[in-house]
Amino acid sequence: MKQMEKVYLDYAATAPLRKEALEAMMPYFIEDFGNPSSIHSMSRSPRAAVREARETIAKTLNADPSEIYFTSGGTESDNWALISTAQLMSQKGKGKHIIISTIEHHAIMETADYLVKQGYEVTKVGVDETGLVKMDELEKAIRPDTVLISIMTANNEVGTIEPVAEIGKLAHDHGILFHTDAVQAYGHMPIDVKAMNIDMLSVSGHKFGGPKGIGFLYVTKSVRLPPFMHGGEQENGRRAGTTNVPGIVGMAKAAEIAHRDLEKNMERMTGLRDHYIERIEKEIPYCKFNGHRTKRLPGNANFSFYFVEGESLLMNLGMKGVCISTGSACASGSLDPSHVLMAIGVPHEIAHGSIRVSLSEDTTLEQIDYAVDAIKSAVATMRSLSPLYDDFVKTHKEA
Ligand code: PLP
Repeated sequence: MKQMEKVYLDYAATAPLRKEALEAMMPYFIEDFGNPSSIHSMSRSPRAAVREARETIAKTLNADPSEIYFTSGGTESDNWALISTAQLMSQKGKGKHIIISTIEHHAIMETADYLVKQGYEVTKVGVDETGLVKMDELEKAIRPDTVLISIMTANNEVGTIEPVAEIGKLAHDHGILFHTDAVQAYGHMPIDVKAMNIDMLSVSGHKFGGPKGIGFLYVTKSVRLPPFMHGGEQENGRRAGTTNVPGIVGMAKAAEIAHRDLEKNMERMTGLRDHYIERIEKEIPYCKFNGHRTKRLPGNANFSFYFVEGESLLMNLGMKGVCISTGSACASGSLDPSHVLMAIGVPHEIAHGSIRVSLSEDTTLEQIDYAVDAIKSAVATMRSLSPLYDDFVKTHKEA
């Protein structure tokens, strides 16, 4: 196997800035550096650029530009949606109960835990073995005091795409607001906030070729979400802080390109992803595919390998130039495997041997084949060092 210098297959963690996005951002660092909130002439060009960016982004979601609020990224958008909706609804006397799923990102999980400490109630609805939210369980969890359902559009670890339109409809049938964390989905699959019954949606720029530290929260017009950041009139008085003009312009350019090429990219990435899945399943014995076979992000594949420790596998792959993530990222300081893999019922002992590859539109077949060869060789090396593996194979064959 000829060593490749670097094969990056961790785009779900972060993606590089698109060159076109960088070019679009450049004027707003030095020449057009003005603050869009000022009233002198230097504010005009940045103000127009932010207006245009808002229009571009709104179009990608079938939203109105007034419904897009720029934030610092996915984490802030998730915090804002949950905390401010909870406050708004309890002030109105509507109730203090929120529903999320067991596979949400930590930005939702930990915000929900924070709300519980503030006196709110949170129900975590389970998922099936493919990662799909159990709709019957969700319906049963709804109470007269439920004010918000927050379920992600697509999962960051196993890539499963949730039935968002159906969840939104269920929420609306009960007069409940619906938020979705679309950080992994936006720019990678079509999203229409109206057709999918979405009231609030979180997005992060760096997951689809925009810069880091910028994102947005879509909030439907009929919801007057109270501000989360205080101290200025930016974003229609709802998100204070000097406007990040280059970040917003760069994110909008990346969003425009991602949506222009969406169909083509989805088709290409799905082909490469399926090639990866097919080769792993055919060529590496005793592995478990995680997530849904078809309802999954085009660029995501997650496998657990028996008798392999994920972290050591990643180190071994790192030496071969392959950059990927473990699907069983331990909570820091804890040996617990990922809550997502636990929620879909991956046995504890193999959850630690899980890895996620995530692709981009620039990923090539050569890179995928190189990564599969590297994984195959690393798994074989690690198993050859495992005293239990031989016994396991013998008993498995006899059985
Ligand atoms: N939500 C999901 C599903 C994510 O995958 C991530 C990041 O990995 C976040 C939220 C947080 O986004 P950000 O990095 O912009 O804070």
